Amino acid sequence: MDKIKIKNLEVFAKHGVFPEENKLGQKFLVSVVLYTDTRKAGKTDDLTASIHYGEICRFIDAHMKSHTFQLIERAAETLAEELLLHTPHLEKLRLEVKKPWAPIGLPLETASVEIERQWHIAYIALGSNIGDRQANLDQAVEALAHLSRDIQTDELCSQNEADGGKDIRHTHVVKVSKYYETPPYGMTEQPDFLNACLKLRTLLSPQELLKTLQKIEKDAGRERVIHWGPRTLDLDIIFYDNLVLETADLCIPHVEMHKRRFVLEPLYDIAPYKRHPVYGKTVREMLEQADT
Ligand code: ADP
Ligand code: MG
Repeated sequence: MDKIKIKNLEVFAKHGVFPEENKLGQKFLVSVVLYTDTRKAGKTDDLTASIHYGEICRFIDAHMKSHTFQLIERAAETLAEELLLHTPHLEKLRLEVKKPWAPIGLPLETASVEIERQWHIAYIALGSNIGDRQANLDQAVEALAHLSRDIQTDELCSQNEADGGKDIRHTHVVKVSKYYETPPYGMTEQPDFLNACLKLRTLLSPQELLKTLQKIEKDAGRERVIHWGPRTLDLDIIFYDNLVLETADLCIPHVEMHKRRFVLEPLYDIAPYKRHPVYGKTVREMLEQADT
């Protein structure tokens, strides 16, 4: 992807662990690489097709000055998130916050934190086989569509409370499949399921996304009693970009997805040619090969 770069923007601000730093302030240097497609601006000479680096500099300056954090990690994290939320055409950024006058008492050039953050695409499978199944799925879609995070506290809260109704959500529901009536899988002595898939654009990390999904399941009255047993709501992460991840509580891509018609059928609705990052097969190919 193309890049727009800002190097060592000087900002006088008050971040630091020591009270003196919060009172007196010091110099910070902020560098940012903005990943975006500059082709259209390059062809048309139209600033609105690109990212205005002057405005980005003013945004950084205001953000760094209007908060007092202990850590430059926190200054960088909140700044990256705000930039991604508020800058049209910005897909990804690399951000470095340097502290050349860090009170260390030893000669050094700078201490700094550098992070990379970006918008991600995730596919989520939804299932329900207790209660009003359609309402349960509708509610989950709604909940994901109105997620927001109070950037100061990192608390999940509803969008309107967080930003006065402005559309600065860190998660967007891009597409939702049809709902499919499917027979139970694994434990077959239970009611039929209603299944669906949706596509998300999100700033959440895989772990944060899992936690968010589990909270939505819990709010829908899900109780983890029997593995593969009946549930009001099941939300699984199927894909997250082309990430391949195996941790104790999270595997991506979902380990069973390529075998499950009840995942592949709705997924085919919204992403027929999305390719499994390990097996290399498209959703359509996996669906053709899945057991009936
Ligand atoms: P299942 O979805 O297999 O019917 P659960 O919803 O109870 O069962 O999930 C069991 C565990 O699976 C969760 O606690 C979660 O930590 C783990 N898990 C691993 N990979 C994923 C994934 N990709 N999406 C959702 N949960 C996952
Ligand atoms: Mg699950």
